[in-house]
Amino acid sequence: MSDMNQYMEAAEKALLHAYNRFPVVFDYGKGVYLYDTNGKEYLDFAAGIAVNALGYGDEAYTQALKEQVDKLLHTSNLFYTIPTIEAAEKLLAVSRMDRVFFTNSGTEAIEGALKAARKYSYTRYGSGRYEIIAMNHSFHGRSMGAVSVTGNTHYREPFEPLIGGVRFADFNDLESVKAAVTDKTCAILMETIQGEGGIYPAAPEFLQGVKALCEEKDILLILDEIQCGMGRTGDMFAWQGYGIKPDILTSAKALGCGVPVGAFLMTEKVAESSLAPGDHGTTYGGNPFIGAAVSAVLDIYEDRKILAHVKEVGAYLEARLDELVEKQDCLTARRGVGLMQGLVTTIKPGQVCSKALENGLVIISAGSDVLRIVPPLVIEEKHVDEMIDKLEHTFSAIIL
Ligand SMILES: *Cc1c(COP(=O)(O)O)cnc(C)c1O
Repeated sequence: MSDMNQYMEAAEKALLHAYNRFPVVFDYGKGVYLYDTNGKEYLDFAAGIAVNALGYGDEAYTQALKEQVDKLLHTSNLFYTIPTIEAAEKLLAVSRMDRVFFTNSGTEAIEGALKAARKYSYTRYGSGRYEIIAMNHSFHGRSMGAVSVTGNTHYREPFEPLIGGVRFADFNDLESVKAAVTDKTCAILMETIQGEGGIYPAAPEFLQGVKALCEEKDILLILDEIQCGMGRTGDMFAWQGYGIKPDILTSAKALGCGVPVGAFLMTEKVAESSLAPGDHGTTYGGNPFIGAAVSAVLDIYEDRKILAHVKEVGAYLEARLDELVEKQDCLTARRGVGLMQGLVTTIKPGQVCSKALENGLVIISAGSDVLRIVPPLVIEEKHVDEMIDKLEHTFSAIIL
């Protein structure tokens, strides 16, 4: 414990205090377990915030990265490279979109999506049709643009003035979205399943209603699947379970399984009237290293039938969580799809997460009263059982 304390002290002296971190220094990971610098084992049901879909140390994944490190890391977007071409083709195939732009993060994917939507509207209708409708309790990232469309005043207020032309509506309330539409609306942005805000899946009638509204008025539907996409729900992207299709899609988090990469994707119809040479760019974005990572991730998803696995183990997780909600007075509801689940708790979620960590379980919170369960997609039923046991111990330790 003593050297862990030393590391933590050093961290608090050097790093900007922008996070309240849990008191643990992780050293390495294997499978779905993390190990701290004292060798203590933790079952990981957070996956680095829905990033490490393949868990830790996956052979095929790390081998692909190592080979690319030895070959070529970066060239800039002034040139073509094979890994990025392959990654793009594979990502378009699984997302059923037509064009992709790779970024370095989810936030940047949102920035790109907003710019793409505004440019589309500008090309087709001229200036003045620029409004974006975003949802209350949404989360889209921390840059000035992404914060501007994040429906949480606490995240926005200190940084005002933000970008203009943003209106907020209530998620899962079609009338509220309709009321926010004006003749200046160019796009409607939402997460298919709100993550950070507390794990709220879009109701099918809501999402289908918004889609119909968008088609009627040539408003672009932007779905942020940075957290809920990449197989977490058992579909490659959550919207694929709703029978609708977005005009613009954002991805990140599990897209690179640990390598910093995001993407915004669009249909050909949007691309034709949107960003052109000179409108947008990135130095790192889509370099051959991340291309190799994304390409390997998508190959592994296919080879291992990850989506079918998520459907199976996700159903098991739901059943075990429902049992737990029945049993525990401090849990009032479960929400979610597949391996993206939230438990509504009457105990402060931060307190549960800290105590769980002591018990060798990593889980995180969402919103002010939700325990968020976003494990690696490769977990098995035995890991679900182990998580439930650890969570039960955690609750009894807190309630005693
Ligand atoms: C995490 C997240 C983002 C921001 O992604 P970063 O990679 O942290 O910039 C945006 N939207 C959603 C839905 C997210 O979960």
